Amino acid sequence: MDPSSPIQLVKGFKDILPGESELWQYIERTAISLFEDFGFREIRIPIMEKTELFARGIGEVTDIVEKEMYTFSDRGGDMLTLRPEATASICRSYIQHKMAAQDPVRKFYTIGPMFRRERPQKGRYRQFYQIDAEVLGIAGPHADSELILLAHTLFQRLAVTDTVCRLNSLGCPVCRPKFKAALSALLDSAASSLCPDCLRRKDKNPLRVLDCKAAGCRAAMEDAPMIIDFLCDECRCHFEAVTDTLSQLNVPFEIDKHLVRGLDYYTRTAFEIQTHALGAQSAVAGGGRYDGLVEVLGGPPTPAIGFAVGFDRLAEIVGATTVIPARPVDLFIAALGDTARRLAFEWSMTLKLAGITTEMIVDDKSLKAQMKQANRLGANQVLIMGEAELADGTVVLRDMATKAQRDIPVEAVLTTVTDLFSGIRNKTCV
Ligand code: AMP
Repeated sequence: MDPSSPIQLVKGFKDILPGESELWQYIERTAISLFEDFGFREIRIPIMEKTELFARGIGEVTDIVEKEMYTFSDRGGDMLTLRPEATASICRSYIQHKMAAQDPVRKFYTIGPMFRRERPQKGRYRQFYQIDAEVLGIAGPHADSELILLAHTLFQRLAVTDTVCRLNSLGCPVCRPKFKAALSALLDSAASSLCPDCLRRKDKNPLRVLDCKAAGCRAAMEDAPMIIDFLCDECRCHFEAVTDTLSQLNVPFEIDKHLVRGLDYYTRTAFEIQTHALGAQSAVAGGGRYDGLVEVLGGPPTPAIGFAVGFDRLAEIVGATTVIPARPVDLFIAALGDTARRLAFEWSMTLKLAGITTEMIVDDKSLKAQMKQANRLGANQVLIMGEAELADGTVVLRDMATKAQRDIPVEAVLTTVTDLFSGIRNKTCV
């Protein structure tokens, strides 16, 4: 490798550049305001955790833990992992800070990057972002419906209207063993058609075979038993209550009896939100109930449910129809000569501190070059000040849209500009 050649980013990682970041901020603001309406509080968790947290919390026999984690031993020999999802970390934090002792019911959201070493393609990255919501401490079905309503509303508020929520119940430790036994019997008889991964999974995590995309496995699973037919009375009642409430709340959903989730800790409600806008990577959010996880991680028995929205995919859909412009430059100061430039710099700092976006070129440039820069920045107004104008005690203020110019006395510049922009802002607020 030529030591002077530019260094590229890591495969599957990406930059979010100005132009796109405004859209990301808009999505973030929309999500945060909605979370706050629903009483969720932000939690910020580390990007790195002990590997054991994910091995225990997600399950050893999952794609994420088996193949996709960024795991390494640090200089002290500790095994660490870049977080592939947020749920396990949030539960770790809930346990570590003994939150259940004060108030077991907690509603959290977090927004940030996750890391999975998957095969990169459009809509699938190795560093991707998730908008994540978790409710801990509520077992009842209304928590499931509320959370699904929340996810649905986020898409609605962002004008993503073609989503469909696929819904299933994965049962609980009472009813799932019977289903697993029936599934395992089928898997044994269909072993010759299964892919090598599923042959390995079939004994340890047979549910995952239902999820496999390999043609042989899909064909073998066509006649697979459905977990929904094996639900115990409590799980059936819970599921019915969730679907009834969703109907009352006018949240559209479809029951998908084949839906399973890639992670081991899901119980009862599992859901995925899909959209046609994305082609192959159609899932834009996924979630479900994980009543056993907090206990598996060493905490008190705590029912819980959550979801994660794929931020990158959401940004792609929203960005196809929505442009969020960058904040425009309010004022450009075109100054000619040392004295004018010094005063212009002082004014520009004062105006920035007053909330008026003010730009200038601090080097010695021609008026033409400065006006070109003002145009490039889309400045609303330009203040033109040369040595001659200053000697006269006036500068010129040019409205870039109407091209109207007026002379302003030097001592009135700051108040005139401040008044002008507070007037413009008030008008836009109305
Ligand atoms: P999961 O945590 O696997 O349930 O994923 C939740 C959501 O995160 C998915 O519906 C996707 O929208 C998104 N997602 C998962 N993996 C990736 C990835 N590698 N790249 C981009 N988005 C992803």
